[in-house]
Amino acid sequence: MVPGARLVILGKQGAGKGTQCVRLARHYVVPHISTGDMFRAAVKSRSEFGRKAEEYMRAGELIPDDVVVGVVRERLGQDDTSHRGFILDGYPRTVYQAVQLSVLLSPDDIDLAVDIEVPTEAVLRRLASRRVCVDCGKNYSVDNPPRFDWTCDNCGGEVVQREDDTEAAIMRRLQLYEQATAPLIEWYLEKDRLVAVDGLGHPDHVTQRLIRAIDGRLGPARRHG
Ligand code: ADP
Ligand code: ZN
Repeated sequence: MVPGARLVILGKQGAGKGTQCVRLARHYVVPHISTGDMFRAAVKSRSEFGRKAEEYMRAGELIPDDVVVGVVRERLGQDDTSHRGFILDGYPRTVYQAVQLSVLLSPDDIDLAVDIEVPTEAVLRRLASRRVCVDCGKNYSVDNPPRFDWTCDNCGGEVVQREDDTEAAIMRRLQLYEQATAPLIEWYLEKDRLVAVDGLGHPDHVTQRLIRAIDGRLGPARRHG
């Protein structure tokens, strides 16, 4: 347990960030903040902001930095995160976003960035077979479907292929990952705030590796402030 820890989870599309963050949030009892989930909720609400976000997401493009930073600033301003810490999933995705996160948290910073490492060939295979619940966002795959007829085990929602899991959008997201997000690994390494974990294998094993790596770096009972 690391009460109050502030974690950033990095990794390519399909590395398993979403699945693992849900488990880590439960294990450490800290809020899981996924910018992708927040934007998907905005799209579903059909707000004007949601319609704008949808265009970027469908094409696999990044939502403009200033917009994303604003959304994250607002979320991190809420009481739960200042008391209990957070697990950030999908943010930061550019060095600019990482700098803004440091500014937001200053004089502190995040405690640790965890890079879930999976080779590109493997994420391409995973993304092609990925399916997701439209209501709660739970991830499935063609090889690991819900128990009953593409109906979510969690909530009964419909389980479908994500709109941005088309081949073109996947290629674009991976390209942007290499260009804009991969440099963050170096950035956090230089600050001595990075740990890398092998993301291949059974999800349960990956979770165990993550917990071991995080506790190894932060101590099992580290407290914030
Ligand atoms: P993936 O990691 O598979 O791309 P996410 O659910 O993390 O999926 O994000 C989905 C989409 O939401 C992204 O392709 C992008 O358009 C938008 N998005 C999410 N987080 C960010 C961010 N930090 N900066 C810019 N765009 C973002
Ligand atoms: Zn569901």
